[in-house]
Amino acid sequence: MNFIDLKRQVIDAGICTHCGTCVGLENKLSFRDTSHGPLPSSTEQDLEIDDIIYYACPGKGLNYAELNKFFFGELPHNWLIGNFEQSYVGYSQKDEIRFAGASGGVITQILIYLLKQDLIQGAVVLRHGKPKPWLAEPIIATTEKEILDASQSVYAPVPVNTILKELTSFKGNIAFVGLPDQVSSIRQLQQMGHHSVKNIRYILGPYVGINMYSSAVLKFARSNGIKDPESIAEVKYRDGEWPGYLRITDHKGKTVKAEKFYYNYLLPFYITRSTLYSIDFANDLADISVGDAWNPIYEKEGKGFAVVVGRNKTATDLLEKMKQEGYLALDEKSLEEVLNMHGHMFDFKKRGAFVRMRFRSILGRKIPDYGIQPVRLGLTRYLVEIVIFGSIILCSNRVARWLLGFIPVGFIGRFFNFSRKSWKNMSKPTKRKGLLNQEYKIL
Ligand SMILES: Cc1cc2nc3c(=O)[nH]c(=O)nc-3n(C[C@H](O)[C@H](O)[C@H](O)COP(=O)(O)OP(=O)(O)OC[C@H]3O[C@@H](n4cnc5c(N)ncnc54)[C@H](O)[C@@H]3O)c2cc1C
Ligand code: SF4
Repeated sequence: MNFIDLKRQVIDAGICTHCGTCVGLENKLSFRDTSHGPLPSSTEQDLEIDDIIYYACPGKGLNYAELNKFFFGELPHNWLIGNFEQSYVGYSQKDEIRFAGASGGVITQILIYLLKQDLIQGAVVLRHGKPKPWLAEPIIATTEKEILDASQSVYAPVPVNTILKELTSFKGNIAFVGLPDQVSSIRQLQQMGHHSVKNIRYILGPYVGINMYSSAVLKFARSNGIKDPESIAEVKYRDGEWPGYLRITDHKGKTVKAEKFYYNYLLPFYITRSTLYSIDFANDLADISVGDAWNPIYEKEGKGFAVVVGRNKTATDLLEKMKQEGYLALDEKSLEEVLNMHGHMFDFKKRGAFVRMRFRSILGRKIPDYGIQPVRLGLTRYLVEIVIFGSIILCSNRVARWLLGFIPVGFIGRFFNFSRKSWKNMSKPTKRKGLLNQEYKIL
């Protein structure tokens, strides 16, 4: 196909997820920074690209029903969480890994274990702070130190799948860590037997609720007196004890920080477009998915707790072995417990996203096609989404972002947290009604 078609149908249509696959598979494409995140572009007019790029592009949507059947042998019994064998709450038993990680260091611990056991020779992870302190770039880590340095979450789009360029020539087995869109694209390539992914043996993925454009962090710095982005020396998105805080340090040693929940006030202003139309919260196609274990008991204890989902036998065997050998603390949890930890986010993705896509398609805009559709969403669920979607549209325009700069951060952080909690309580009956048993039809 011609790149112009990908550009028209996905990139200019506003549904590119910044996954990196197209740039990873076509040398003549590269990313350019825009106010809507990094977007693929070509310097060549009339560039012919391999059709496979389009098939593996998650922006236009990938067929979750088919991918589930291909990789897990069946459709999920519960579409909220996807196919799974066993779920747990856990953390790394090594304190230096647990405290360095975003929520217990589970992903980092698994990667280090696989490397030490020689089950993999490399892991696709992030190198933080490149090319700018608030960004990151994908690397194939081949040492324990590189994997440990990559721990933590980066709340900005990082086109991880550009690493496909290097994967083909890598000698050895790989563990891949990516966000749901990146993982689904890798799965699509695996299903098609593409040579670039032949070495990938394990896929690990964080849960992903909301991602933000990197201008969010710059706005936060500016509002706190670090006006010049060039003066920023380091950004840590989840520093300190779990759940952690955002910390920005400038070259003179000045530090500004905000607790995770107070920093969240930036979400409606800088939420990425692809977040709104993604239906995958729990990284449904990974072998092992990991998220924060939101529960008052764990939150009171701090230190770092994660919800861990093993989606196939290989994954569960690995997790059980790591538990027996003392690398991971893992406490088995029922499906209901795991779903209840993130009820609002499962609803946001597995019902809200479909409503938002419906609104978008009514306006004549392109939407991704995932091959599934929820059945029977009540009128009240549509009304709740009008409030959520409406607030996001209102907050994410330039004027609202500009006005935000005049409101003291301490006030807006607390105000947002209070409003979020009140809204969550108010909308909970509607959002939770029928959620756990939500049915889907295959299109
Ligand atoms: C954008 C984003 C949104 C998230 N939203 C939620 C949420 O709503 N609810 C929830 O429960 N959990 C969410 N998470 C997951 C959570 O923050 C932790 O990543 C997860 O719990 C794993 O913790 P860990 O300590 O095991 O990971 P760690 O041991 O710290 O390892 C994290 C791994 O993830 C990789 N990684 C980090 N950021 C990115 C990125 N942007 N792109 C690709 N790879 C990355 C790193 O390279 C590293 O290997 C989100 C994560 C991200 C990146
Ligand atoms: S979603 Fe990924 S493959 Fe599709 S256009 Fe965007 S970066 Fe390229």
